[in-house]
Amino acid sequence: MRQVIIIGSGPAGYTAAIYAARANFKPLVIASSVEAGGELMNTTEVENFPGFPEGIMGPELMGRMQEQAAKFGAEILLDDVTAVDLTGEIKKVTLGSGETHEALSVIFATGSANRKLGLPSEDRLSGYGVSWCATCDGFFFRQKTIAVVGGGDSAMEEANFLTRFADKVYVIHRKDTLRASKIMQDRALANPKIEFVWNAAVTEILGDAAVTGVTVTDTVTGDKRDIALEGLFIAIGNDPRTHLIHGQVDLAPEGTIAVQGRSSKTNLTGVFAAGDVVDPTYRQAVTAAASGTVAALDAEHFLQSLSADVLAGAI
Ligand code: NDP
Repeated sequence: MRQVIIIGSGPAGYTAAIYAARANFKPLVIASSVEAGGELMNTTEVENFPGFPEGIMGPELMGRMQEQAAKFGAEILLDDVTAVDLTGEIKKVTLGSGETHEALSVIFATGSANRKLGLPSEDRLSGYGVSWCATCDGFFFRQKTIAVVGGGDSAMEEANFLTRFADKVYVIHRKDTLRASKIMQDRALANPKIEFVWNAAVTEILGDAAVTGVTVTDTVTGDKRDIALEGLFIAIGNDPRTHLIHGQVDLAPEGTIAVQGRSSKTNLTGVFAAGDVVDPTYRQAVTAAASGTVAALDAEHFLQSLSADVLAGAI
């Protein structure tokens, strides 16, 4: 049995692992089989993580966090959690491999999943021109006309990045103002390869075998029109990944895991949560990392409060 299992390997999970490992708790990190490293693995340059004035590529930053956690003794498993039982004193975490691991405490840092438009054609054409990851798929759209949906920082970042490959990038946004930060907006607005399509909702993705265009509906007038394009990148935000704990851990009205005050404590003793899965507002790598620190310290205080007999059974 472990003292602490950390589920998730983004900035929150790995930072919690660094702190827990340095406190000698030998944490087991379940890092996911396909998405280890979390959202930043799909990002290009991270310019706002303190300590990197020249910027750092997202995957490199995550590789360094993993290395730092492992250096202090965290054990990292590239597997997916399929079920958890968190209600008893001993927490059970079952993996895709079929193994079940037990622990006295669990830190949930499962992040968030890409939001979808909710169109049947989106699922059908996923991988055939519809993508959620510019860094993964941008290369396939050399000299093509493509679009990014969304008006936040992700959409601006993806649109700018995609102009390295595509001849033309539409940004299709349902309003006439952007949610993105000023610096990201300015960069996209000044990019000659980007054309904004304002007040437009994508109501259909066209194409049989691959994307050939989209139908957009004007959100003010209701008018519809088709735009010919070969790729559609959806960057409309994320939803917290909480499916594993439904019915066990309380959620906040926003759908994130509910935590007590500024702590990482959930409604279940010994269960802590950190990162985007608790944060509907800030959702930055650095705030996730800070929240991972809080979770590790909360778990440490909890473990220190247990009797020597209970602790003796765990590594
Ligand atoms: P956001 O939630 O910030 O933005 C989502 C965008 O998608 C909004 O413009 C929203 O429209 C639009 N949208 C949401 N749902 C739909 C829908 N169903 N159909 C059409 N459009 C929709 O998400 P992001 O992923 O952009 O950013 C998440 C967080 O990560 C933010 O805090 C952001 O600052 C941060 N981030 C920071 C980066 C950086 O600093 N380099 C890079 C990327 C992300 P509306 O505006 O109308 O609500």
